[in-house]
Amino acid sequence: MGLLSEGNPLSWTEIKLALQHIRSYALDELIRTFNKSKDRQKDAFTWGDEVELTLVRFDHDNKYVQLLLKGHQLLPIVCELNDKINDEACRIAWHPEACDFVVEGVPSQPYGFLPSHFNIVEANMKLRREQIQQILCQQSDCEYILNIAAFPRYGQRQCTYPPLEYGPSHSVEKSLCYPDALISPIHPRTKSLSKNTNERRQSKASINIPIFKDCKTLSPFRDELFKDDPDIKDDNIHLDSTTAGWGCCCLQVTFQCESFEESIYLYDQLLPLCPIMLCLSGACPIWRGYLSDIDCRWNVLSEAADDRTIEERKERNFLSRFSSTPSYLADKNKHLNDFNYPVNQSVVSKLIDQGMPETLSRHFGHLFIRDPLVVLKEFLHPIDDTTSYHFENLNSLVWNSLRLKPPPLDDNLMGWRIEFRPMDIQISDFENAALVVFLALLTRVIITYGLDLTIPISQVNKNMNIAHYRDSARKEKFYFRHGNQISEMFMNEIINGTQDFLGLVPLTRKYILQREDIDADTRHTIEQYLSLISKRAAGTLLTNASWIRQFVLSHPSYKQDSIVSQEIQYDLVWKMQQIANGHEDCPQIKYPNMDTHTELHPK
Ligand code: ADP
Ligand code: MG
Ligand code: MG
Ligand code: MG
Ligand code: MG
Ligand code: MG
Repeated sequence: MGLLSEGNPLSWTEIKLALQHIRSYALDELIRTFNKSKDRQKDAFTWGDEVELTLVRFDHDNKYVQLLLKGHQLLPIVCELNDKINDEACRIAWHPEACDFVVEGVPSQPYGFLPSHFNIVEANMKLRREQIQQILCQQSDCEYILNIAAFPRYGQRQCTYPPLEYGPSHSVEKSLCYPDALISPIHPRTKSLSKNTNERRQSKASINIPIFKDCKTLSPFRDELFKDDPDIKDDNIHLDSTTAGWGCCCLQVTFQCESFEESIYLYDQLLPLCPIMLCLSGACPIWRGYLSDIDCRWNVLSEAADDRTIEERKERNFLSRFSSTPSYLADKNKHLNDFNYPVNQSVVSKLIDQGMPETLSRHFGHLFIRDPLVVLKEFLHPIDDTTSYHFENLNSLVWNSLRLKPPPLDDNLMGWRIEFRPMDIQISDFENAALVVFLALLTRVIITYGLDLTIPISQVNKNMNIAHYRDSARKEKFYFRHGNQISEMFMNEIINGTQDFLGLVPLTRKYILQREDIDADTRHTIEQYLSLISKRAAGTLLTNASWIRQFVLSHPSYKQDSIVSQEIQYDLVWKMQQIANGHEDCPQIKYPNMDTHTELHPK
């Protein structure tokens, strides 16, 4: 999450005093960036994924599984190991995450445009978990690194190893459930981020998630822990900390574009795909030990990261800084921006004066309504005009479903990039690879066939909410453009086609058929991925969220009261471990013969 650099964070009071300076530095940097890079041409199509991985510890005697607070110990070891690997394809860049039980791994070099690159994504993801797993195995035989989008009982007492003390005195946010000791000690930004988010909004985070009402669920359902809290609503699971959100794990993909123009076009086309991919990736039905009525983490993070003041929250169109992308960027799509988001008007005018197109100027004008929640003292006053710290910092502290990343001032090799951010992480490397490869291929399909998938922003926003509904991949309809019309369509129709729309997977297959340079092995891999996506949309395979739900509902000790006990969690997470490590099949989410078998070995 966000830009990582070593340094000492300023307090919120110090940031407030420096806000005018910071904004003007950031604006200068943005203008210089734009002028320097707007005419870049012919950058390569490079791309890369980011996976956030969860550390857990099983106690088989007591049927417990806990979050393992060990990221800060593992990262220095695994980074040193990678420093010694010469073969780029086998080197991983590891990053600390907000919570100490999460680490983030990305390929050290982005993938290229050669078809064979599509064949190594899964192997690279597998390698990431292997690197950490090997270190864990040297220390213990019950510790694992897994893909878990939201740990089921995260926020319940005893959810961590080692155990922590709970209560308002153990949290800068005064959270009852999420003590500061969950935060990674080697990620100096996070504690400052939580504290400043709290100070700015002048209260602790308040996250309400509708509970899944089973036949024996208390009615109304009210969490004992918060029974005197006016903030919580009946029939909701309540989380009371930014750290609740930052403990979730996502799957992100970044695409570099050939030029500025291409990045604007692709951004606008990827925008309506955010809710589609969110829906297909849904993997988060359980929150703080309760079965919920939602399938994805997105809206939870939106509330967790919300730093708006009370006044800002009253303004209808002033959204959380963690929200669905509020606007298209191309002037020609201006009419689709039917959501009237606030902007810093003086920033917009200055950017237009500099020759930036109007709609893009408004996009950045919107960025500038946000305060930078974390600022490192060492970077407060730029020493010269070759860096873009303040702009990049501001840009990385707004968490929309897409992020436009202009080329940094101090890096001449990097082009215009788009980060695709909505997806939940999947249980297996195979599924994660399938989602990111499908998306990477879709970018080629969009550009090759000149697709137009745009629909009004208000409809994208509705789709984002619909994606959260229970079993939305099978049951809900989404607004979708095909040709000249927008219709409400089932995921099956969007992905697999209708009488008058070919469907996103068949379109991708058509593209692959036309690419004569793709070897048979890569074709086979890609077909496995497309087949997963196709079956998930058709409902013949389950999303992770639906499978997790079914697992809980059919567990022998489940009491039909929405409560996911320690024992259920233990069995569930152990099963996820078995699936992820290929020890057990799970034909409900992927057929046994689906995984591909490319391996990466350092030369
Ligand atoms: P952040 O957390 O700010 O998104 P990370 O460094 O964690 O940044 O991830 C950056 C992602 O962008 C990685 O997936 C990486 O592979 C990818 N990436 C880096 N450089 C390029 C590039 N030139 N073109 C495309 N993707 C890139
Ligand atoms: Mg991350
Ligand atoms: Mg990252
Ligand atoms: Mg980052
Ligand atoms: Mg995260
Ligand atoms: Mg990222």
